[in-house]
Amino acid sequence: MGHVHVIDLPRRIIIGYEILDHIAKHIVELSLGKNIVIVSGPGMTKTYAKRVIDVLVDKGFNVWHVMVSNASINEAMRVLEEFKNNDVEIVIGVGGGKAIDIAKYTAYNLNARLVSIPTAPSHDGIASPFASIKGLDKPTSIKTIMPSIVIADIEVISKAPRRLIIAGCGDLIGKFTSVLDWRLAHKLKGEYYGEYAASLALLSAKNVVKYSEWFSSKTIPPEAVRALVEALISSGIAMGIAGSTRPASGSEHLFAHALDVVANYPALHGEEVGVGTIMMMYLHGKNWRKIKRVLKKIGAPTTARELGVKDEDIIKALTLAHKIRPRYTILGEKGLTREAAENLARITGVIQG
Ligand code: ZN
Repeated sequence: MGHVHVIDLPRRIIIGYEILDHIAKHIVELSLGKNIVIVSGPGMTKTYAKRVIDVLVDKGFNVWHVMVSNASINEAMRVLEEFKNNDVEIVIGVGGGKAIDIAKYTAYNLNARLVSIPTAPSHDGIASPFASIKGLDKPTSIKTIMPSIVIADIEVISKAPRRLIIAGCGDLIGKFTSVLDWRLAHKLKGEYYGEYAASLALLSAKNVVKYSEWFSSKTIPPEAVRALVEALISSGIAMGIAGSTRPASGSEHLFAHALDVVANYPALHGEEVGVGTIMMMYLHGKNWRKIKRVLKKIGAPTTARELGVKDEDIIKALTLAHKIRPRYTILGEKGLTREAAENLARITGVIQG
């Protein structure tokens, strides 16, 4: 018997304009159920959630709404406790990262289906089964379930703050190094490697470079946001095909997670990943200057100062990164010495002096 590989994918992905109102139709067509919990954030995402609730209540669904302010384990447990006896069949996450992460965790633990309605394109968790929940023993993501439906309304997502859009670009740029790390782990450690998933993840990174002119403009055009959303979804699908975060998360993500530990979530995930990618490209002996140029052009952070951290935090994170999870990358099993970390950060201009 050979290696058995299971692939979980969304059943339906809807991308376009004014599509929030069609949600009931898709839920009915896929027979997902009647009892729905909607998880949203406060502010604008609450307004979008209300729209979704109105449509669903109007069509006869039983709908409960819960708001979350962060994606911590405490918040996740609160939501779980509140709805554990409600025979929940569907959990819908409406929001940026946090609401969707809590929705994933809730759906997984209540054995319900998941619907993802992103309102910001800031990371590739939109269409992946992986959730980032703060306060667990590890800062990395955990496997939950793949969304059955993803509804990406470009009109809604285009209104997200520029910073969140650019962060999404940073998360995707990271695939240049995550795929290199994956190949390395395959060659050196015999780890499973899937060419198709790797190519798909890489393609999503290349799209950011291809459309960097668009992303550099002050008001990012909806066509660019659409291309970004499609690339973020592709990256999520790549993880679904691989059955792990491998195609989308390598040493650049280890650095980002380590920086979150060292400096307590100082910047957006995608911003940290972008800076990590510059440094890990250098370690791989690849064209790190090009990555830096693209990030600068689109207005993403490329230095410690721009991430809002001290030079020392960068060095610490670099020396800690390999310990974040047992995942073989260019950082090796022993990681970087302090001296190597400092050199790396200096040469790539992430730290000054
Ligand atoms: Zn990421």
